[in-house]
Amino acid sequence: MIPYGRQDVSEEDIRAVVEALKSEFITQGPAVARFEKAVADYCKAAFAVAVNSGTSALHIACQGVGLGPGDSLWTSPNTFVASANCARYCGAKVDFVDIDPRTYNISVAALRQKLEGAARNGSMPKVLVPVHFAGQSCEMREIWELAGHYGFYVVEDASHALGADYDGGKVGSCAYSHAAVFSFHPVKHITTGEGGMVMTRDPALAQALMQLRTHGITRDRALLRSKSEGDWYYEQLRLGFNFRMTDFQAALGASQMRRLEAFVARRRQLVERYDHALKDLPVAGPQRSPSGNPSWHLYVVQVDKRRKVFDALRKAGIGVNVHYIPVHLQPYYEALGFRRGDFPQAERYYERAISLPLYAGLADSEQDVVINALRQATQS
Ligand SMILES: *Cc1c(COP(=O)(O)O)cnc(C)c1O
Repeated sequence: MIPYGRQDVSEEDIRAVVEALKSEFITQGPAVARFEKAVADYCKAAFAVAVNSGTSALHIACQGVGLGPGDSLWTSPNTFVASANCARYCGAKVDFVDIDPRTYNISVAALRQKLEGAARNGSMPKVLVPVHFAGQSCEMREIWELAGHYGFYVVEDASHALGADYDGGKVGSCAYSHAAVFSFHPVKHITTGEGGMVMTRDPALAQALMQLRTHGITRDRALLRSKSEGDWYYEQLRLGFNFRMTDFQAALGASQMRRLEAFVARRRQLVERYDHALKDLPVAGPQRSPSGNPSWHLYVVQVDKRRKVFDALRKAGIGVNVHYIPVHLQPYYEALGFRRGDFPQAERYYERAISLPLYAGLADSEQDVVINALRQATQS
């Protein structure tokens, strides 16, 4: 079976992990700081806070900007459930903004319209989570302008977009957001097994995030409310979590970062090969927005008779997948009042979507197998 995504772990990565395991630090230690610096330098972000998953990163980013009961968070329905669940962890409400059928990202026109309505009836979101679907940045300049106008926070779900370029910078620089979140799940661009990171330019938010990942505790003398009672002394300043990343995971992440550019280059090359090979087939790919260069986490095609094509590909040993079942149609969200028909563009997109295999280690010959199988499945 050719999977839709998989990690690429080298001997050098393994050596880095073994070295970390033999060191004094097993949980959060110097490798975490090194990994954070590597990602921050790469994205040109001021601060990076590593945690144990992308989901935890979303959770503390929302909590860090003050999302709580009585507030609401808006996101795209075309995403993994975590982009919405992070609001629920904070006791906040969730709403969605429909997608642009050209890019499958949140529609800025739909967002603008919904914000105008919210301004009239006092239901303004506190946080917007734009999701850079498949590794293509949302239109962040426009979103940031709306955030300034209406006064909401922007937390980018950049789980798909490590390595993506937007408007002359890297996604994760937070040029147009308060925070951006990466995931290091094995199907993402680089992996730590499980892991995530919050990027931000805001020193106060960075400080809050560092406390939130470790029980709300600080040992920083400058932050203590009382005088230190000795070297053992720490204070819990807020209610936090244990969301720490282990040092051996961070060692893997830092080692993987050295190959990120090569991973992204290979993904872009494979996407070009797909684009070229699928030109004459009855399938449609996403339109590129002119302001960026995607790092391509997913390669999604839209096909008629999706079920039939999907089953044929799986039968041919191709681990195709579907991203995403619209979040508002999950039973948990339906129980909160969402209905089929609420976000028709995301629903229409979902009905026809198939994700083809895409990962740095996919060989040309394997990709040709996928292409030939897709040709047969769509022509029979
Ligand atoms: C992978 C992913 C997440 C969650 O990341 P985990 O590291 O698995 O917790 C969140 N949002 C999106 C869009 C993702 O693809």
